[in-house]
Amino acid sequence: MSSKKTTKFIPQEIGSNLTISDAESKGLTHLEQEYRLLFESLDRDANGLISINELLQIFRDIGIRNDDPRLVLDFDSTLPTGDTLDAKENDYPLNFEQFKVILQQSQGNLVKNAIQGNLIVPDFKNFRAAIKRIYEKAKANKGGHVATYIPQLGRVNPEYFGVSICTIDGQRFSLGDYIIPFCVQSICKPINYCIALEEHGEHKVHQHIGREPSGIGFNGLVLNSKGLPHNPMINAGAIMACSLVKPTLDMADRFDYVLDTWTKLSGNIRAGFNNAVYLSERQTADRNFALGYFMRENKAFPESTNLIDTLEFYFQCCSIDVTAEAMAITAATLANAGICPTTGTRVLQPNTVKNCLSLMASCGMYDFSGEFAFTIGLPAKSGVAGGLMVVIPNLMGICIWSPRLDELGNSVRGIEFCKELVSTFNFHNFDSLTGGQSQKQDPRLHRNQSKIDSVISLCWAASEGDVLEVQHLVARGINFNEADYDGRTAMHLAASEGHTKVIEFLLSKGAIPNPKDRWGNTPLDDALRGNHQSVILLLEN
Ligand code: GLU
Repeated sequence: MSSKKTTKFIPQEIGSNLTISDAESKGLTHLEQEYRLLFESLDRDANGLISINELLQIFRDIGIRNDDPRLVLDFDSTLPTGDTLDAKENDYPLNFEQFKVILQQSQGNLVKNAIQGNLIVPDFKNFRAAIKRIYEKAKANKGGHVATYIPQLGRVNPEYFGVSICTIDGQRFSLGDYIIPFCVQSICKPINYCIALEEHGEHKVHQHIGREPSGIGFNGLVLNSKGLPHNPMINAGAIMACSLVKPTLDMADRFDYVLDTWTKLSGNIRAGFNNAVYLSERQTADRNFALGYFMRENKAFPESTNLIDTLEFYFQCCSIDVTAEAMAITAATLANAGICPTTGTRVLQPNTVKNCLSLMASCGMYDFSGEFAFTIGLPAKSGVAGGLMVVIPNLMGICIWSPRLDELGNSVRGIEFCKELVSTFNFHNFDSLTGGQSQKQDPRLHRNQSKIDSVISLCWAASEGDVLEVQHLVARGINFNEADYDGRTAMHLAASEGHTKVIEFLLSKGAIPNPKDRWGNTPLDDALRGNHQSVILLLEN
């Protein structure tokens, strides 16, 4: 966990119930005005104090945990923080100055954006509810078998099922066994590939590894026409990527470097190591040794590579332990082009992430990769311990962990969860192409946002007399009788401005001729007020 700064507040008697015009007349800076607006939105009784519990609840509702490293909430050592806070017993009034310190010390406008609902998934409550439904559905699936090629994996409780989500704004939600560590296994492959890219650049790395799906099993004893492994997401390519990770350091430092990278990617949740898994990986590694020798015979390795060290290193990387919660943050760092959402630290360069996601999208799911790209349409990587890391670029990272695998080595519940996810939400890479006809939800939007956008566009086009645009919008299925907050419809706006053609068009489509706005006015009232004779005639008829 990260270390948090502690701020001691000295309560002061400063009221805050200023309006913006008061603020302006008092010569407050723009920032100060903004702070006051935020404060006032929470100051229900206008008594200059807000409830700390209410503030914490706002964070929790939008998915920002109270122990988020970006928040500075230790305003009084006597006040417990975190999800266990007992709301009633420990409430604590905050005045404006105290609130301002929280705003200023917390990272990256997080507090402001949380209060304004300006995070990437604004309606996080509904999103959580949908994820819970999907989780429960997938949980009922008991299909598949745990991996048994090493006893350590064979002994894992097959019932484990953890799901964790982290958005690029660090909104988090987890269900089930999300704090039980599991072995990353093949999910070390994309991370090692990223590390190699950061160190050597794309050109050098791809002198040793291809970037085509292999079309054969993940541990297939085959190389491409240049004598190189097909891609870094299968064993041969992953062993090759290991040879490129800090090759000049000694073994312990190389491993530490990889472990530190995992830790940084997951917002400083420390990655662990499963020694028993490592030992048995090593003992049952004939195929991986064969792949290593085959590549050495083909002179595929960088010069002066120590093959045995490289293989050992690969087994160690497969034996790294993480929780679903940590892996979701790792996935979110990839979704966020290399910046960890919960710490704000850049861990990888955007180009590295772009390359990695491209190969995860085409080669990340064993022999199901093409099928996964078709049906799910997201970059992902699975491992034989039942982990599945899914990246939704510019939106969120997801980790699903359930040890029972299908015959191709992917987590059965993981695949089911993903299928359900993309049938609920428009997350498939190419869902944007079917937007208009699809019933899928877009959690990126504010509740009612698309409805609001349509009403605004229609009213705007009507008030401008833009018949063509009105026609376009109607063609898109917009309800032309929809009203804005004041009950004003396209008919009102067109009538006020005397746009006969728009009125004619709307009436021909069946628009209601006499809707009332919140002041009780009809379009005819508006036309009379503006003395628009042709509109008056049309509406009187
Ligand atoms: N340690 C496994 C191997 O190299 C990786 C298995 C996997 O998750 O694909 O065979």
